[in-house]
Amino acid sequence: MDNKKVGLSDTMKAKTEPKTFRRNPIVGTKFTIAISSAKGGVGKSTFASNLALALKKIDIKVGLLDADIYGPSLPKLFSISEKPESDGQKLKPVKKYGIQCMSIGFLTDELTPMIWRGPMVISAIKTFTQKVLWENLDILIVDMPPGTGDTQLTFAQEIKMDGVIIISTPQEISLQDVKRGIKMFDKLNVEILGLIDNMSHFTGDDGKKYPIFGEGGVQRTAKEFNKNFLGEIPIDPEVGKQGDLGSPIVESLPEHEISKIYLNFAEKIKNIYF
Ligand code: ADP
Repeated sequence: MDNKKVGLSDTMKAKTEPKTFRRNPIVGTKFTIAISSAKGGVGKSTFASNLALALKKIDIKVGLLDADIYGPSLPKLFSISEKPESDGQKLKPVKKYGIQCMSIGFLTDELTPMIWRGPMVISAIKTFTQKVLWENLDILIVDMPPGTGDTQLTFAQEIKMDGVIIISTPQEISLQDVKRGIKMFDKLNVEILGLIDNMSHFTGDDGKKYPIFGEGGVQRTAKEFNKNFLGEIPIDPEVGKQGDLGSPIVESLPEHEISKIYLNFAEKIKNIYF
């Protein structure tokens, strides 16, 4: 091939072309499911933590790995301030709400920004995937960093993931990135379990549904790419409030409509694997 004609898209192709990656399964869990969003701020961490709690409620032994190296959310969402212990070789997850948890945020100060370059991030990913003592889990939920950059690629190439769930809001600007995310996971041969429409609408006091960020976009995208649409989660201020209080809605308000939606998702996941 004429070198001069190798453009950016070819470079990207080479990076993401399906190859036989030597992916290591995470030790200590039967299945690993990643929660991904192509964009930040769409509710990925909220989804990951509530799904983990819902799975636990239906007797699945679950772990939660907050792999968002630059913006860890788990310490705040689960109100965890203790540091994980080490046995000299491996880090022991911190147990909260019956879930084994690990986050880079457990090791750093809450307000210290992670000003890390690529190789450091990759080494952190290796630590988190190979040096955590997960004990006898059925499912490990991995809250992935947002985007389709190097970190995500490294993750998808390093870890044997059994499936990925993609979270989006219905805005066009999010959906564009979702399409890139779908292509990335397809190229990496990671099975996409389906798409979730988060913050799909707001129900007013008048009982009417207001599609604040647009309507049906996530479902349309799922159809366009021949992926499952797993369902929608409306906007509800309680979601943010409970998350901020350090006890996500499924834990603190199990009878809430949103918690029931999460339990429904958890049942779907259980049926796929067990
Ligand atoms: P990400 O992990 O994608 O960056 P977060 O999970 O941190 O996103 O969510 C971003 C913000 O949106 C948080 O304040 C969270 O409480 C809020 N949020 C997420 N889902 C909902 C929802 N369904 N209704 C209301 N607020 C939500």
